[in-house]
Amino acid sequence: MHRSKMLIDGKLVNSVAGKVATIYNPATKEPVAEVSVGVRIDAQLALDAARIAFPKWSETHSQQRGDILHEAARLVRQRVEEIATLLTCEQGKPLKDSRREVLSSADVLDYYAEEGKRNFGQWVPAASQGSRSLVVKQPIGVAAIITPWNLPVDLMAWKVGPALAAGCTVVAKPPSLAPLAATAFIRAVNDAGVPPGVVNVVHGSGSVVGAELVENPVSRKIAFTGETATGRWIMEKAARHIKRVSLELGGQSPFIVCSDASVDKAVSACVQRAFSNMGQICISVNRIYVAEEVAEEFTSKLVDRTMKLKVGNGLEPGIDLGPMFSEPMRQKTEEHIADAVQKGARVLCGGHKPEGEEYENGFFFLPTVLENVDHSMRVMREETFGPVAPIMHFEDLDEVISLANGTEYGLAAYIFTNDLTTAIKAAERLEAGGVGINVNNVAEIQAPFGGWKQSGLGRELGHYGLDEYLEVKHIRFGL
Ligand code: NAD
Repeated sequence: MHRSKMLIDGKLVNSVAGKVATIYNPATKEPVAEVSVGVRIDAQLALDAARIAFPKWSETHSQQRGDILHEAARLVRQRVEEIATLLTCEQGKPLKDSRREVLSSADVLDYYAEEGKRNFGQWVPAASQGSRSLVVKQPIGVAAIITPWNLPVDLMAWKVGPALAAGCTVVAKPPSLAPLAATAFIRAVNDAGVPPGVVNVVHGSGSVVGAELVENPVSRKIAFTGETATGRWIMEKAARHIKRVSLELGGQSPFIVCSDASVDKAVSACVQRAFSNMGQICISVNRIYVAEEVAEEFTSKLVDRTMKLKVGNGLEPGIDLGPMFSEPMRQKTEEHIADAVQKGARVLCGGHKPEGEEYENGFFFLPTVLENVDHSMRVMREETFGPVAPIMHFEDLDEVISLANGTEYGLAAYIFTNDLTTAIKAAERLEAGGVGINVNNVAEIQAPFGGWKQSGLGRELGHYGLDEYLEVKHIRFGL
């Protein structure tokens, strides 16, 4: 069985307390690996290693840091099969999706290898003749990185790449129930020639290891992706030391289809974004608003495409959707569907576990389309984080935009229209960190990604992502 140790100060180590945990495959409930599980002292050792490594790493030339990040990207690509297989076995997603995630994480490392070299300063006009002002950006210090299980490799790369490029050192805590692929990714980064202590990994629960990383004064920056409730807790704790935080939190993304949209294009985009990774993506389509004129055509085509999706063990070829990550995730999905049905929704397809021997052990669920929904239902307001696509009809675009904005979340919003004016007005009025017009993804490596309202704080990707790991300094010269 695969064994995964922690990485502290350049060495693969077991937990000081000797704790281990078994990681199970959500498709079969079979054990796939044993991992060392840290406690507070392991997190403290890792933070110390990162603190000691920081001065030298922060002064390393950005060209040299870039070379190491390019080499890390090369190693990740070389190890794609190993890392992707671990990812499918621990998380459930189909192998082709795991490969895509791992390759995309290598692209992020390559991007920040170059972006780190563009950490420009400014020569600022001074108010008096006798002085000059220079503004520079310098690395914050030790960054604690805490990530979730739904995209464990990609979301680790979104943080480790800019942190290292900026000159920060890192202690990463991957998700406790799916730490294998993220740890393998970080080992590749370490093997690329990063000095000991610059990048560390500690496994363990959020309430123990995660809490230590947040509360310990050694970490100067917390980069977190996960639930809004956890983000709120982290922000409160970080306030004690006025730490810098970036929080990528939950979402409840609307998908609007206007009467002039290309229906086939909208259906393809919707089916992919509502169900891939079993809807367990922060920018998944959570609510669909379709103009009355095209609602029937859109709904029947969406149901047709949904019913063709092949659910199964992600290691098998030809699978579109794997199992859900865990029983609590499946239960939450069932509860949201039951709540909607009880309030009048109709299930057009799915709505239950698939039948058959191959599905008996895993956390499988059929992708589900609901109609006749309204905003009294939990699926329209809360984050289901499951494969559910509820469809509501609309007549008036202004009304639908207020409905789209009517949740506490503001991560992504999508609109399908062929009218430029509608697209521009909607894009301006939708309260979200990312708006997709005729596309179903708002993550773009060179552009900022993040949430408005309770979907988060700060931005990842692009130059914005690098800035999250930099402090601004004004240097004033008297002449
Ligand atoms: P989670 O908040 O339960 O856990 C995320 C990470 O935080 C894990 O590593 C966990 O161990 C750790 N953690 C938990 N409690 C902690 C604490 N008290 N202190 C420090 N760390 C703690 O989230 P999850 O269930 O793993 O992930 C799903 C959530 O992530 C969804 O809400 C989803 O929308 C969100 N998400 C957001 C984005 C985004 O970019 N906005 C991307 C992916 C996922």
